[in-house]
Amino acid sequence: MTNILWLKGGACSGNTMSFLGAEEPNVVELITDFGINILYHPTLALEIGKQVSNLLRDILKGKMEVDIFVFEGSVIQGPSGSGAMNYFADRPMIDWINDIAPIAKYVVAVGDCAAWGGIPAVPPNPTESTGLQFHKDQYGGFLSAEFRSKAGVPVINIPGCPAHPDWMTQILVALATGRVKDIVLDELNRPKTFFTDFVQTGCPNTMSFATRVEGGFGKRGGCLFYEVGCRGPLSRATCNRILWNRHSSKTRANHPCLGCTEPGFPHHDLEKGSVFKTMKYLGFAPLDVPTGSSQLGYYAYSGAQNAPVSAEKALGTLDSSSETP
Ligand code: SF4
Ligand code: SF4
Repeated sequence: MTNILWLKGGACSGNTMSFLGAEEPNVVELITDFGINILYHPTLALEIGKQVSNLLRDILKGKMEVDIFVFEGSVIQGPSGSGAMNYFADRPMIDWINDIAPIAKYVVAVGDCAAWGGIPAVPPNPTESTGLQFHKDQYGGFLSAEFRSKAGVPVINIPGCPAHPDWMTQILVALATGRVKDIVLDELNRPKTFFTDFVQTGCPNTMSFATRVEGGFGKRGGCLFYEVGCRGPLSRATCNRILWNRHSSKTRANHPCLGCTEPGFPHHDLEKGSVFKTMKYLGFAPLDVPTGSSQLGYYAYSGAQNAPVSAEKALGTLDSSSETP
């Protein structure tokens, strides 16, 4: 039996909605086939009020173990670091996190807000939101860079806005079945199995990317990189390989990838003209170039010369060791 405790901070509950749509495995299978026991989940639980604080206090007294502590939403530290903007079960949520994270065998951050602050952390960030262990792409979230769970593992980040449901359930199963050693993390503590390839891998528009054929929002054919801000070549995620609802993805529906699995999301802090629009340098060259390219190199070699690299990235055969995510 693996006990999961799921708490939420500054959350829209999008990751919970996504989680409930998981298919491989689905949430019922987590319980029936993989021995997972959900101690408490704010959306699913029957407990309310005192029952919740009693349950959390019983955990702190050691009456029951937390094997996996899942956190969704930003860690709200305001005002002035008190955490009083996010009270839960009679205490600031930050106090529960402080007490529970070190006694949990594993800690998992689901979604961008829990991983690195996400939308709530966009300046001026009135709630003083941050991620569990990261703030944007740096250590400096709520827990220290040195934090390790009881099993000696840092916070496992499963980013996305929301995270893909199967990324969540498959990591939970790996932890519940003692396969933590199979979860290799990248430098942002994301499981590499889901966050090594780019969203562009598997996108049907890659040939248009290579040949610089512009598409458009909702328009069939063409690539969304040049005008409507697609971040598929800059964002590591399996959205075009493990399809959403086993059916599609943003770019398959000709909607630009917003780069939601990267710690910069929302990119350019939602600056005017930065969403659904390709920001341009000198009015014509994309400001954000594909990961692994320097701006100068990209501008110099884009076009026909860009095709081989683009094709390699699309096929997933590009040597990523030389790239900076
Ligand atoms: S992921 Fe985006 S940039 Fe890449 S080919 Fe598809 S539409 Fe173009
Ligand atoms: S396609 Fe891009 S924006 Fe959409 S879920 Fe995947 S990484 Fe996030």
